[in-house]
Amino acid sequence: MEASIMDGKTMKCGAVSGLTTVVNAVSLARLVMENTPHIYLAFDGAEDFARQQGVETVDSSHFITPENIERLNQAKDANRVQIDYTQPIQNDTKNETEPPFANGDSQIGTVGCVAVDSNGNLASATSTGGLVNKMVGRIGDTPVIGAGTYANEFCAVSATGKGEAIIRGTVARDVAALMEFKGLSLKEAANIVVQERTPKGTVGLVAVSAAGEIAMPYNTTGMFRACATEDGYSEVAIWPDTKIE
Ligand code: ASP
Repeated sequence: MEASIMDGKTMKCGAVSGLTTVVNAVSLARLVMENTPHIYLAFDGAEDFARQQGVETVDSSHFITPENIERLNQAKDANRVQIDYTQPIQNDTKNETEPPFANGDSQIGTVGCVAVDSNGNLASATSTGGLVNKMVGRIGDTPVIGAGTYANEFCAVSATGKGEAIIRGTVARDVAALMEFKGLSLKEAANIVVQERTPKGTVGLVAVSAAGEIAMPYNTTGMFRACATEDGYSEVAIWPDTKIE
């Protein structure tokens, strides 16, 4: 597992990867941000830090469920590295670059969250188990500040999808940079990054601006997503234009 967090007001951030026992990876990323002189701890060092900080841990066997084993075996059989779908892999996918299913999962996949308060302070956090059948030692976009997670005084962004594409596209930072340097709105900036600057079928993101504008674009078939505002508006959806009331 890996995670990161960023506070847009202070530009402080924290990240962890290579975790096998920590229950709440984002909480550990926050402790790296708050209690160390560093930004990013990984593997044994991150696990040692977790113990030192007394965060909740479980035996790593806790994460080895029959469902996860099945998912891994399916990915191995298909010789694919892929996003953590709940549904079984379809072998008849015609376009290899376009996932057949929604990206992410409500219980096991990447979780990203962005928030803005009434003073316009922004924050972002992202957590993931990474891709199914990834190489040992592989690090994705999620803990990479500027790729999977970013926040500054313009916006907060959290991305999901194929980490390699998200890192190449510096996805989260590019949304903020387009707002800062081109004066685009959050929606315009997020749409350019997701629809024009990253390969189809690889990326989705959630983002909020200092003014409270919300953007949740994706170039996959669907994306589990939700938002809520102080004045009571809320939206939950998976596919394009299918709000769950
Ligand atoms: N972005 C994550 C990774 O590549 C996976 C995901 O979003 O589910 O590790």
